[in-house]
Amino acid sequence: MAKKNKNEKRISNIPQKVLESANVVTYREGMTVLDLANGLNKPVALVIKKLFLNGIVANQNQVIDRDACEVICLEFDCELKDEVVTDAIRFDEFVIDDKPEELVSRPPVVTIMGHVDHGKTTLLDTIRNSRVALGEAGGITQHIGAYQIKYEGQPITFIDTPGHAAFSEMRARGAKITDIVVLVVAADDGVMPQTEEAIEHAKAAKCPIIVAVNKIDKPAANPDRVMEELSRYGLIPEAWGGDTIFQPISALKGTGVKQLLESILLVAEMEELKANPNRLAIGTVIEAGMDKARGSYATFLVQNGTLKVGDFLVCGDIFAKVRTMEDDRHIKFQEALPSQAVMVTGLDGVPLAGDKFMVFSSEQQARKIADERKIRTKNKELEENKPKSIDDLFNTVDNKNKELNIIIKADAQGSAEALKGSFLKIDVPDVTLNIIRSNVGTISEDDINLASGSNALIIGFNVRPMPQVKASADAKKVQIRLYKVIYDAINDLTLALKGLLDPVYEEVETGYAEVRQTFKVSKVGTIAGCYVTEGYIQNNALIRLLRDGVVVYEGKLNTLRRFKDDVKEVKAGYECGLSIDGFNDIKVGDIIEASKMEEVNNG
Ligand code: GDP
Repeated sequence: MAKKNKNEKRISNIPQKVLESANVVTYREGMTVLDLANGLNKPVALVIKKLFLNGIVANQNQVIDRDACEVICLEFDCELKDEVVTDAIRFDEFVIDDKPEELVSRPPVVTIMGHVDHGKTTLLDTIRNSRVALGEAGGITQHIGAYQIKYEGQPITFIDTPGHAAFSEMRARGAKITDIVVLVVAADDGVMPQTEEAIEHAKAAKCPIIVAVNKIDKPAANPDRVMEELSRYGLIPEAWGGDTIFQPISALKGTGVKQLLESILLVAEMEELKANPNRLAIGTVIEAGMDKARGSYATFLVQNGTLKVGDFLVCGDIFAKVRTMEDDRHIKFQEALPSQAVMVTGLDGVPLAGDKFMVFSSEQQARKIADERKIRTKNKELEENKPKSIDDLFNTVDNKNKELNIIIKADAQGSAEALKGSFLKIDVPDVTLNIIRSNVGTISEDDINLASGSNALIIGFNVRPMPQVKASADAKKVQIRLYKVIYDAINDLTLALKGLLDPVYEEVETGYAEVRQTFKVSKVGTIAGCYVTEGYIQNNALIRLLRDGVVVYEGKLNTLRRFKDDVKEVKAGYECGLSIDGFNDIKVGDIIEASKMEEVNNG
């Protein structure tokens, strides 16, 4: 289920049909005589009769008020409790707390990840097409974002968008939909950058990984090399004493795919995936859209409970009454069980992928919650411009222990290792530091996604994010801290972990300029003809010279000119000439990042 955080609420106080025991009935606004009879587990005719004897004439579809409900409940020796709905508008933060005896096994939900061209799409297609060979109906399929197959009678759901971009996007929105990651690695290519990224994403999400060593039909295939390379990432094959399943396959020819499905079911069994089909459904939106024929539609992954045609639900802040449900084969369903993905119509708008949905027992309640959530979304947008503090980044593991996830990006392997080693030595009681990624290179979009999904802090050492990456970090409220001295980084982090970080002066970027030309001028040195691409640059700015995202020089400006005049400031969209104090090795294509010192609150 969803990642735990300190704001989560237990859902057991939300009345559901299943929670109504023989002598307790939950009163809901808009309750009908029939609802009351169902709650009491008595024939509706008998309830109508009791009402009549109490001076109330009503038919079974009539709404009854709380007092009348109470009278009837007393007649049947039942207690009437009020529905607790105050928190229901925060349903996306709830952790479902079903009683163990209500839980049954549910099918696994699998995402396929790996480097580009290693065969993810081919594998998804081969598995989808294997339905006929496995004795299921085939036919023309449509892309709805997920599909389910049955292997030896046991269903497996596949998320039909391979790669980790969608996976991390979902996680960033707090949605955990994947139970098992199948990591596809081409045996003729081995571990590649996106293989590594996929491993980090899967590990951060605490998803078990099965390795599919693909393209074994190729003469250049070398599965042993893949095993050896992946061992370095802690994925050690069973044959070598580890616990990771490596399945050699040819996604193209279908070799080994059955064994892969068997492995998925094996891992699923070990994971003991469970759900309670007898509750109102909850789950996550996988994809959504709108077209003329269907109106608004969305693919829902049911994660608990059973979704039914006619159900009233809220997804994101949109109300829906489920009109139709169908799978990728256009097969229509009246009910969708846990782990099933269905495309649903009947939505009042288009939700976002990653939005949670929840079914409510009455239309009135669902509409009310959707409306309240709309207002909340608006208020939240206003409020969310505040940056995250370090405190917000702590994940509460239990009442006492906290975790802080860290991503280290450094200019050299040596510094990354040194930082990692030093960070792991920081010892603060009740706080655990998890380094979820540590590598060399500039801060990338994928780092931002991983940080956003894992609530992590990015530590950059002698590297700087490019402007578009910085913008994305700001938008996703990802905190980046940049250091030049290892000691400063360790010191800051230690203080942060102790909750003692004082407000400090920090550099605030004011703008960026791109070097388009260079000239040598005697006495002055190199003058760079620049174009300010973002923000502004001031003549007293501190600057960093970035070449391919790596800091080449840090210092301050010497001169800033427009045409022949010295100026104080140049804004985005204008050209300027500048020189850097004590540095002449400026090259075309370099990026100048300008900043100034400002007092900031470190949180
Ligand atoms: P993706 O980018 O990971 O989704 O990779 P694709 O599924 O698009 O595959 C990339 C290329 O590799 C395509 O030309 C496939 O036909 C080919 N390919 C995929 N699996 C295999 C395989 O098992 N054997 C061989 N020989 N080629 C494969």
